[in-house]
Amino acid sequence: MEKVDFRTRVLTRHLQDSRRLAIAGDISCSPCLSYTPPEASEQPFSFDVTSMRKLMDGHNLEDRDWLFNLMIQSNLFNPKLRGGKVFVVPDYNQSMEQQREMTMKRIQYLLDHGVFQGWLTGKGFEDEMRKLSLLEVIEIFDHSLAIKIGVHFFLWGGAVQFFGTKRHHDKWLNATENYMVKGCFAMTELGHGSNVRGIETITTYDSKSREFVINTPCESAQKYWIGGAANHATHTVVFSQLNIDGKNEGVHAFITQIRDAEGNISPNIRISDCGHKIGLNGVDNGRIWFDNVRIPRENLLNSVADVSPDGKYLSAIKDPDQFFPDRTVRFGAFMAPLTSGRVTIAASAVYSAKISLAIAIRYSLTRRAFSITPNSAEVLLLDYPSHQRRLLPLLAKTYAMSFAANHLKLLYVKRTPQLIKTLHVVSSAFKAILTWHNMRTLQECREACGGQGLKTENRVGQLKGEFDVQSTFEGDNNVLMQQVSKALLAEYVAAKRKNKPFKELGLEHMNKSCPTIPLELTVSTLRSSQFQNDIFCLRERDLLNRFAAEVSKYQAQGESKESAFVASYQLAEDLGRAFSDRAILQTFLEAENNATDAPLKNALGLLRSMYVLVTLDEDAAFLRYGYLTTENAATVRKEVAKLCNEKYYDAELIKCRDGSKSFTKNRLNDNFCDCADGTDEPDCCDGSDEYGGTVLCPNTCIMGGNIVYQRTSYDSVASNLDAINSRKTKPVIKMEDTAQKLSGLKALVFLQVALVIVIVAFRLIRRRKTRRRNSR
Ligand SMILES: Cc1cc2nc3c(=O)[nH]c(=O)nc-3n(C[C@H](O)[C@H](O)[C@H](O)COP(=O)(O)OP(=O)(O)OC[C@H]3O[C@@H](n4cnc5c(N)ncnc54)[C@H](O)[C@@H]3O)c2cc1C
Repeated sequence: MEKVDFRTRVLTRHLQDSRRLAIAGDISCSPCLSYTPPEASEQPFSFDVTSMRKLMDGHNLEDRDWLFNLMIQSNLFNPKLRGGKVFVVPDYNQSMEQQREMTMKRIQYLLDHGVFQGWLTGKGFEDEMRKLSLLEVIEIFDHSLAIKIGVHFFLWGGAVQFFGTKRHHDKWLNATENYMVKGCFAMTELGHGSNVRGIETITTYDSKSREFVINTPCESAQKYWIGGAANHATHTVVFSQLNIDGKNEGVHAFITQIRDAEGNISPNIRISDCGHKIGLNGVDNGRIWFDNVRIPRENLLNSVADVSPDGKYLSAIKDPDQFFPDRTVRFGAFMAPLTSGRVTIAASAVYSAKISLAIAIRYSLTRRAFSITPNSAEVLLLDYPSHQRRLLPLLAKTYAMSFAANHLKLLYVKRTPQLIKTLHVVSSAFKAILTWHNMRTLQECREACGGQGLKTENRVGQLKGEFDVQSTFEGDNNVLMQQVSKALLAEYVAAKRKNKPFKELGLEHMNKSCPTIPLELTVSTLRSSQFQNDIFCLRERDLLNRFAAEVSKYQAQGESKESAFVASYQLAEDLGRAFSDRAILQTFLEAENNATDAPLKNALGLLRSMYVLVTLDEDAAFLRYGYLTTENAATVRKEVAKLCNEKYYDAELIKCRDGSKSFTKNRLNDNFCDCADGTDEPDCCDGSDEYGGTVLCPNTCIMGGNIVYQRTSYDSVASNLDAINSRKTKPVIKMEDTAQKLSGLKALVFLQVALVIVIVAFRLIRRRKTRRRNSR
């Protein structure tokens, strides 16, 4: 009973308290937020957007638009009208099986409309660039679709093209382009992924029947993760050790049929499904076993090595393990199609980063959270410096990587035998760095959208699952970066041994004297391309020297070359990044040089500075090895914060009097207070506004009744009448609104005139009374 009494008292007190609070008006509801899409209040850009797009997409703009228009015309791509624009989005409510079937239907639609024309049979620069651009558009729509197409054209088709000879080209390329055959690429095994040389599938030659016999000798030799194998592929390129007369000749590639056109699995082939994945479920990854499968001798892809009808092994390349063309290739030649995969993966990672940043930045330009001062409007997310720091450096990096991807595509398409090594190293580095960047960007964007980031329809969260695999397939990123460092070391050792200048891999800067970094960095130095290039070159040069010294120290202690590499992994990692950052910066500078108009160059200059300074801020190597002093590192950090603000506001800046922030001229008179003290507008005409320094209240202080002044003044008067709501949002100035506000203004003027009349009348009456009093 006592307990009940106690509870009743507590409850009564609670209810009384809350009634008191409500009566006192301490709790009041906020007016509802209204939403305006960011483009509605978008100000004119300071640069030409079309030119920027041209620079970023780089090539085949018309082809890209053509394909996009083709996609929005078909329900297969789920066209949706939103805000007067058509978007295409994947359908997120499908099961894995439905996604796989839908992928095939979309491929059929694209095939019927001639999208793949010339993808394998076309020759030359134009065809190659068109193919790459169209794949990027498909990638923007749906990663699964692009990967399924990529496996068929770039891996299977590429293997036939690069490893095969005329007989293979004649038989397979046209059929592949028309999807008469559906190809896949069986390299990875359960037991061996990154280490391709270790695969266990064995192929022998039967000279009596003139056939190869392919066998999966054990469970770890089953082919695993093979895209297209689970449901649709009719043929595969199978990678296997070739054993001739008891001698292992290393990894070779063979064409094998695994299904007929009706989808029946071929004799002596077993296939099973890899199952549901965290993303990419529109691709049917499968496992394959070969039970002594017999194939004709001609199915060996024989551009590098062949077996004569009577069973003699023929190869111009002696060492099965050698890598680069200047020293003879065998194993390395088999990696060639993977280069095209790395190129397309790197490029598509940048598009994914662009999509997520576009979504997260748009969101941060409309979403408000918390007020800084009582009764003031809630703050736009992108007005928080912390939010700017999270998103805008990623944006700058995405620009940088966009240029890097364009450079890589050109390097690939214009490849010559002399460029194979460079292509291998640059594609490995860029594939790793660009896909890592994408994953980091996706996570940051997901979080920057708060709960909305988790909604599948908003794409960012979904893309994380879809693109995660990019850091693993077609070369695990960490393994690729090791190869980059190894290749740099090989270059270093060769140059030093022969006492010759560096000529490749962008290492020519090592031939010059070592760049010096000023002891005290000024803002103009930090933003100069000379300094930026110098500090990236300095880091690469020094790390390469250190890496070479460490490896040779271990070797001097009796370690093998391979274990010396393994032990020096920290320097190898730092060096791989240093190489990539320097190479990416060079592509940025190239793009900047190609830009002709000044505003575009200015925007690119800011983005480049942001890219470099953020890299300096984030990579501990600059402090660890002393390329930056702690003071300079602090200056860099401050400059990044400044750049974030500048990037956001981009055009001419106005500073708040209290120094809290800056905003652009064109944000004046938008009925929203940009400064924390809330005084930036509309009362600046009395000269009491907050701008310090050089910029003087540009629109509102032009006294004398020009049109801009009148309109903005009326707006500001009208906005006072509607204070709370107008401060919550950034309304677009429309003619109807202006007219409405003007009629509101008439009422106000009328009231003011009435007030003046009342005051004058009151005064006249008082004066008369006073006179009467005095006269008495
Ligand atoms: C969705 C998907 C689709 C795929 N499609 C295909 C396909 O169509 N055809 C095909 O042939 N393959 C395909 N693959 C396989 C893919 O190429 C391999 O998964 C990849 O090469 C990595 O191999 P692994 O999975 O065996 O990982 P591992 O090689 O076992 O690597 C595991 C981890 O060990 C690390 N590691 C490995 N070696 C070293 C080392 N030397 N030093 C330090 N760390 C190391 C790696 O960095 C990684 O983190 C696909 C994979 C997936 C997930």
